[in-house]
Amino acid sequence: SGEEAAAKAAAHLADTEPPTIFDKIVSKEIPANIIYEDDEALAFRDIQPQAPVHFLVIPKKRNGLTRLSKASPEHKALLGHLMWVAQHVAMKENLGDGFRVVVNDGPNGCQSVYHLHLHIMGGRQLTWPPG
Ligand code: 5GP
Repeated sequence: SGEEAAAKAAAHLADTEPPTIFDKIVSKEIPANIIYEDDEALAFRDIQPQAPVHFLVIPKKRNGLTRLSKASPEHKALLGHLMWVAQHVAMKENLGDGFRVVVNDGPNGCQSVYHLHLHIMGGRQLTWPPG
């Protein structure tokens, strides 16, 4: 039934992982330098910037997205929106000469906060490959 399908979808999106520091930034329990906000997404400056401009874009509701590799088809629209926000804020931050978008996933990716986030870095000549 439709109800069963909805329940299944909700369970799939449910967060079984503990809240992270980013949930407290969303709820404004802890301060952050927020540079963009809409119903679904938040962008704020990284506390340990690796470039002159370094901000993070996160979904306000983690919705099971502790990491990118947890994505399922239901997340596609949100994932697209986060990419849109990344470039929108990058342009507001005068990164027209270019920037980098990074998602660290899991232990090998050096992920430290398990609430999906895009890193946007720019304001200097970046090098490739990263470490
Ligand atoms: P990850 O290593 O998971 O890809 O990135 C986590 C990022 O979050 C790091 O760049 C780290 O500096 C940043 N970060 C961790 N805690 C805080 C915080 O409390 N406030 C802000 N603004 N950034 C944080």
